[in-house]
Amino acid sequence: MEWNSGECSFLLKKNRQMLSFWEKQSFLNYDLVVLGSGIVGLSTAISFKEKKPEKRILILERGIFPYGASIKNAGFACYGSAAEIWHDIGQLGMDRALSVVEMRVKGMQKLRKRLGDEAIGYEENGGGEIFRQEDAFEAGILPELNRLLHPFFGKTVFEKDPEGGRSLGFQSQHISEFIRNRVEGQIDTGKMMQNLLALARQKGIELITGAEAAMPVQTANGWQIPLVNGPMVFHSEKIAVCTNAFAAKLFPDWDIRPGRGQVLITKPIKNLQWKGIFHFDEGYYYFRNVGQRVLFGGGRNLDFEGETTFEPALSPAIQQQLENYLKTLILPENQDFEIEDRWSGIMAFGKEKVPIIKNFGNGLAAGVRMNGMGIAIGTEAGEQLALMLSEI
Ligand SMILES: Cc1cc2nc3c(=O)[nH]c(=O)nc-3n(C[C@H](O)[C@H](O)[C@H](O)COP(=O)(O)OP(=O)(O)OC[C@H]3O[C@@H](n4cnc5c(N)ncnc54)[C@H](O)[C@@H]3O)c2cc1C
Repeated sequence: MEWNSGECSFLLKKNRQMLSFWEKQSFLNYDLVVLGSGIVGLSTAISFKEKKPEKRILILERGIFPYGASIKNAGFACYGSAAEIWHDIGQLGMDRALSVVEMRVKGMQKLRKRLGDEAIGYEENGGGEIFRQEDAFEAGILPELNRLLHPFFGKTVFEKDPEGGRSLGFQSQHISEFIRNRVEGQIDTGKMMQNLLALARQKGIELITGAEAAMPVQTANGWQIPLVNGPMVFHSEKIAVCTNAFAAKLFPDWDIRPGRGQVLITKPIKNLQWKGIFHFDEGYYYFRNVGQRVLFGGGRNLDFEGETTFEPALSPAIQQQLENYLKTLILPENQDFEIEDRWSGIMAFGKEKVPIIKNFGNGLAAGVRMNGMGIAIGTEAGEQLALMLSEI
């Protein structure tokens, strides 16, 4: 039998794909495809399934398991330090800054209700904010902030500690003010992500890992989503982009830039005197206990340009600064410690410190740019996105 050139090129194309009718029917067609299996992607898929149980949902994740900030963070269930919220009010205006706080509060409530405190390792130990000798602090803002936040928490959030953190073993000679925070909590990030994944699977949501989505293409009846690393092309009526910083790679005109966060964790320290989550330098540095260990991260402001990167690496200068602060501020003088591990993850920032949660009106919606607050905000972001998607 002879083939003409048209049939030949058709066959060559077919050979490259080699997908059966069954594969196409059962594995490539969905009602909703979610890009990214971080806290926002998983929460979006779960909330959408709760609203539309009959719909088929697929999550595509580029990593072998979720490989973004949601599994690399410090696990602060935080609503914002006094300096941070005051700064946000100045930048965003009162209403928008408070609406971000409200999203954090709602997000944490929903996450705790959805999975339960044990499944996310939630502990409400409170914490505080350290002002170093060189930091400016306006004591007058506390009563006003407490008044503004009272409707969300029903109690006084910020209190000045007259001892400057001495009772916790911080090196108080370097501290000009220490503001206690009674409402913040901490989670076990690994447990939270494992249990969120388990819930998604239990609800019948499909997840394909090792599947990096390329630029989606709009068609007459939905979206085609090709993969960077394979011949498969998924088809879906609706699509939710939940790839946080990495959305900038697919949609370069969105106002998103990556920001690397670096972290270290010590080996257990005998007689660690405190529990809780703490910040300083307007939240650029943050530390907490993990049992008897100290997890300490930040320092992006030492090199904004260098840390505006998708590269998951460590920089010696920032790691050294973290160790210096452990020695000179956080742990008692002459306290021995050893570093057990170090890692980094990529956050997403933009001109404004608010997430992008947007319905583009063509079956595509996005929940991205979660800044440094995705743990608290992620579940609420997913809920809002699912609501948009169920209405379009
Ligand atoms: C070191 C560090 C410490 C932090 N500490 C805290 C904290 O204590 N508290 C807090 O609230 N927030 C913290 N954050 C921020 C928080 O982790 C993020 O805001 C949040 O996890 C964002 O969630 P997400 O689901 O939007 O994004 P991500 O978790 O980044 O998820 C995006 C997912 O998309 C996947 N992906 C990317 N591109 C593609 C593609 N093309 N196709 C398929 N999949 C793709 C990625 O692999 C990833 O799994 C921290 C972040 C870092 C890095």
